Amino acid sequence: METIYDVVVVGGGHAGCEAAAAAAKLGVKTLLITMNFQTIGQMSCNPAMGGIAKGQIIREIDALGGLSGIVTDKTMIQFRMLNRSKGPAMWSPRAQSDRWRFAEEWRLQLEGIEGLDLFQDMCTGLLVKGDHIRGVRTSLGVEFKANSVVLTNGTFLNGLIHIGEKNFGGGRAAERSSIGITEDLIKYGFESGRMKTGTPPRVDGRSLNYGLMEEQTGDEKPEKFSYSDETKSLTKQRSCWITYTSDEVHDILRSGFSRSPMFSGAISGKGPRYCPSIEDKIERFADRNRHQLFIEPEGWQTNEVYINGFSTSLPFEVQVAALKKIKGFERVKMYRPGYAIEYDYFPPIQLSHSLETKLIEGLFFAGQINGTTGYEEAACQGLVAGINAARKTRKQSAFVLRRDEAYIGVLIDDLITKGTEEPYRMFTSRAEYRLLLRQDNADIRLSKKGFEIGLLPIERVQSAHKKEASQGLVTEILNKTSVRPEVINPYLELNNESAIQEASRLLKILQRPGVSLEGLVEHLDLGELKTLSSEHLMYAETEIKYQGYIKRERETVNKTNRLEALAIPADFNYSGVKGLSNESLAKLNAIKPATIGQASRISGVAPSDINILLVYMGR
Ligand code: FAD
Repeated sequence: METIYDVVVVGGGHAGCEAAAAAAKLGVKTLLITMNFQTIGQMSCNPAMGGIAKGQIIREIDALGGLSGIVTDKTMIQFRMLNRSKGPAMWSPRAQSDRWRFAEEWRLQLEGIEGLDLFQDMCTGLLVKGDHIRGVRTSLGVEFKANSVVLTNGTFLNGLIHIGEKNFGGGRAAERSSIGITEDLIKYGFESGRMKTGTPPRVDGRSLNYGLMEEQTGDEKPEKFSYSDETKSLTKQRSCWITYTSDEVHDILRSGFSRSPMFSGAISGKGPRYCPSIEDKIERFADRNRHQLFIEPEGWQTNEVYINGFSTSLPFEVQVAALKKIKGFERVKMYRPGYAIEYDYFPPIQLSHSLETKLIEGLFFAGQINGTTGYEEAACQGLVAGINAARKTRKQSAFVLRRDEAYIGVLIDDLITKGTEEPYRMFTSRAEYRLLLRQDNADIRLSKKGFEIGLLPIERVQSAHKKEASQGLVTEILNKTSVRPEVINPYLELNNESAIQEASRLLKILQRPGVSLEGLVEHLDLGELKTLSSEHLMYAETEIKYQGYIKRERETVNKTNRLEALAIPADFNYSGVKGLSNESLAKLNAIKPATIGQASRISGVAPSDINILLVYMGR
């Protein structure tokens, strides 16, 4: 049996799958060790990918050559573009997934990658020499040697599952927890913490009365995540359903609070603030007499249904009694109860931008182990860690994305600069340049990088170039084309826009909020533009309509990036700089920022201290 590798990835979740795929596709000898082959690419919680800010991340992963977008496209059962009524920076693609197919597709993708070996076992310890990683040890006592190791243990490190007053070790329902790694890392000087998350019960869809719920269908013209031609949009979709809790449901849930691990103090870890359990919602929003629930099918074939919004760790019988009082759930049959899980994580300020740990060279962390929550957040870290683990073995420089280049850049910079004390999830509000980081332009932003790293074929870069060029063509044609009132007014009236009185250039007309480029192309006979796809038209329209704002954001980026270009040596002695406040000194020493730009984002480091550093370095 082969035991010597370039890269070993531990864990076959969203982070681990991306990491292993990236490293192997880059041509280094890679091994993925995971505890259970049956759960490779498993969605631990809701069967959905994307959503606000997360959809942008999947598109970015795809543009760099990662696989989450392709796997999602091949296994989705519904597609919706969220936030269509808001500005383009907020548009976010979301897919309802077939949970089984999703995991199966990941396994098939991984098995199809040359140079990627798979092994089922629990990794229980690390092989370290000095401050260099040398490999890992498994529960069977096998030692795998490697120059780089990527840990992606998710919620499994000393995982403890809670349902009411019962608790038991586990990394996910019906799966063992991972032991040994936390203890090893602490021995090497790492700090660890404890977090928690929870999941709702799953029920038998045949026992529900959908006639009492509101239907939520997918988009009429569903799109997809991947920019490649390898996947197609859905031609049929499954609906989700909406129902609500009630006072009666809340009363039943409250009756179990005294036995809830959330309130009894049995759970000490911090949970995701933006994904609260139903008991949390009832407690925090006591004046609300109902909460919305999304009833989501788990696949094409299965009857299993996921109750989004009803995450709970209350005793089993309380869960059943409360479910039965939900409209449409009167005859519900439960498949699996909801539960909460506590697990170890490692505060991410112990990492550098490449996701390599500062304490052990060649050791990388990605995913929930870094205190994040969510498949997309995990997957993109896995991709970056996998790329950098492979590059490390080849002595290549680290691959790092800036905050103005990708949400992935924002996420990693936030984690390693600010750390996180509660599960970190991505929001559009975390990005300061969200008009630049749109879901429709991820290919234009990142394809070239994906190609340069070695993950994306040249055709994908060419196709992104073609899309970018469409903006020039559209601008030129709209600028030289004038329309008379009698031609355009019927279209304008139809879209609640005031009529024009004299001939106007189309470029000016497109600026109106109710006017779309696709609408103009359809209404007028704009021959040359008819050949452009909806995707190209949408991209061109956004760039044209928001030109002024986009330009302003780019100018701010250029100014800010001057500070990003000022590198601080890794062994810089902050204590030698006179005048820094004690708080700044402590934070700078702990985080060791790579640039002045990063130093300026550390909370507690005052602008005056940045000035002191600038003057010192100028000297
Ligand atoms: P995981 O998907 O957890 O994968 C870890 C992988 O590592 C698994 O394959 C495991 O078998 C393997 N592994 C672990 N230790 C070892 C070892 N020592 N040796 C070998 N293999 C190992 N996210 C949300 O965004 N919203 C939610 O509401 C939400 N609720 C959740 C509820 C529950 C109960 C759980 C368990 C997770 C929830 N999540 C939620 C989190 C989401 O599942 C994770 O963010 C995501 O799966 C993290 O991906 P990952 O790759 O880091 O880890």
